[in-house]
Amino acid sequence: MSIRPTRPAPLAALPAQVHTLIVGTGFAGLAAAHKILTEKSSSDVVLIERAADVGGTWRDNTYPGAACDVPSNLYSFSFAPSPAWTHNYARQPEIFDYLKSVADSHGMRERTVFDCELLSARWDSKTSRWNVETSQGTTSAQVLVAATGTLSNPSFPDVPGIGDFTGTMFHSATWDHGFDPAGKRIAVVGTGASAIQFVPELADPAEHLTVFQRTPAWIIPRLERPIGALERRLYKVLPPTQKIARGALYAYREGYVVALAKFTFLLPLFKLVAQGQLRKQVADPVLRKKLTPGFTIGCKRMLLSNTWLRTLSRPDVDLVDTGMSAMTADGVVDGNGVEHKVDAVVFGTGFTATEPPVAQVLHGADGRSLAESWNGSPSAYRGTSVNGFPNLFLMYGPNTNLGHSSIVYMLESQANYINSAIAQMSDRKLSSIDVTRRAQEAYNDDIDEQLTDTVWNAGGCSSWYFDRKGRNSVMWPTFTWEFRKLLRTTDLGDFELRRGAPVAQPRESEPA
Ligand SMILES: Cc1cc2nc3c(=O)[nH]c(=O)nc-3n(C[C@H](O)[C@H](O)[C@H](O)COP(=O)(O)OP(=O)(O)OC[C@H]3O[C@@H](n4cnc5c(N)ncnc54)[C@H](O)[C@@H]3O)c2cc1C
Repeated sequence: MSIRPTRPAPLAALPAQVHTLIVGTGFAGLAAAHKILTEKSSSDVVLIERAADVGGTWRDNTYPGAACDVPSNLYSFSFAPSPAWTHNYARQPEIFDYLKSVADSHGMRERTVFDCELLSARWDSKTSRWNVETSQGTTSAQVLVAATGTLSNPSFPDVPGIGDFTGTMFHSATWDHGFDPAGKRIAVVGTGASAIQFVPELADPAEHLTVFQRTPAWIIPRLERPIGALERRLYKVLPPTQKIARGALYAYREGYVVALAKFTFLLPLFKLVAQGQLRKQVADPVLRKKLTPGFTIGCKRMLLSNTWLRTLSRPDVDLVDTGMSAMTADGVVDGNGVEHKVDAVVFGTGFTATEPPVAQVLHGADGRSLAESWNGSPSAYRGTSVNGFPNLFLMYGPNTNLGHSSIVYMLESQANYINSAIAQMSDRKLSSIDVTRRAQEAYNDDIDEQLTDTVWNAGGCSSWYFDRKGRNSVMWPTFTWEFRKLLRTTDLGDFELRRGAPVAQPRESEPA
């Protein structure tokens, strides 16, 4: 009989005061908590999470076929390698279990208040603290880390009649597991990273699928394989072998940047691979044309799949390439005004990425919200600090997204930066640090310049990377090691510093 290790109990209630408050317990929140706790820059760390468990993306996205698209040996924490992955691209349940076990074994669960949503946080210049309101009461924090995710709020198309549909309707990020697709006519709206994973899973049980596409994506093969018992054993007994495998994957993925951002004339090599797969899997030239993007490969994230194109070739699957224009009580209307009667609609329409809801509830030194301050165009210093919002750190902030590698690497870089800032505040007895406008602008001017010739800006597509003002406020423009280097420490020379007010919680190593 195996004995299940007991799960640590979470924090029962929100304390009235805390030094460092981390909002969100996905990869980002856990990375920040781990760094701050292990380096002991603050011992008074509390996490809050609006859901009932840790995991973020990997707790919520439970759709059939959900899996990562960066190999798990790389898409995982450097401080918690797992020899247990059963596939090189782990499936959602394994990633969710992994995040739960990291939270349990690194002392994070017992510091987390669950079902606790951040409702508002206001900077108080008199006390140099954040006054925080949550669904479980109020608290005050000296340092606030917003690790609320970029892809955590589902987005729906803004079309007339969306509320009129009387059948089953849900978003891929809130999959309705009570819904039985067997024998149903199902419309799928969207052809992005999630849809290409769940559509092949729905095709068999459904009676008929109609997929509504706005723009096709370039699809490249997914070099997928199970990780056998022998390899798993090797990683377990000889951990350096897994480190080597991770290093090799990292180097290989960074190689993509050479074509995506530095020498875009190399991109046709990727295109050859994508076109080869398209030709092999789609015999019908009309369908093939519908599935051929009109922009440079890489401009929108290249998607990985061995089954998507083949699924769209099935006789019981239709592709509508005019998108959706409206909904009725019993169907979806396409861009040509034709109604398609269906029993259910599944939205694979992504997330509100450039307008994160958390920006509405964070109010800085002048009382304005972060959303008001950004005014439709998010920007930050090193993707993490924002002028006028002292002691606030954004994880996965503006211009930190990647088209080629693991976001976890970026999040761990941000965790280094936050930890460095907190340690320096403590050492220098600073009550607040606020990045200067000048430093923030100079940083973003440089980002904009670096992005100019990349495929994300120059590849001729319209993507979610562009904000309301037409700025690419999403992508990191170059190699990830450059980000790591830049965020190794926080350069307080770029900040306005405030001394005097007591720091709530001294570093553990210092006498109280
Ligand atoms: C289906 C899918 C597949 C993906 N695959 C990959 C991949 O293969 N590789 C890759 O690099 N990236 C991938 N991504 C991107 C993914 O979002 C990131 O890799 C990563 O999971 C982000 O972690 P996070 O902690 O920043 O955000 P999240 O995982 O979104 O976590 C944010 C947490 O904050 C909580 N929260 C939000 N608002 C509040 C609030 N107001 N109060 C309290 N709590 C709040 C949420 O409940 C959530 O738990 C994928 C995304 C999706 C949706």
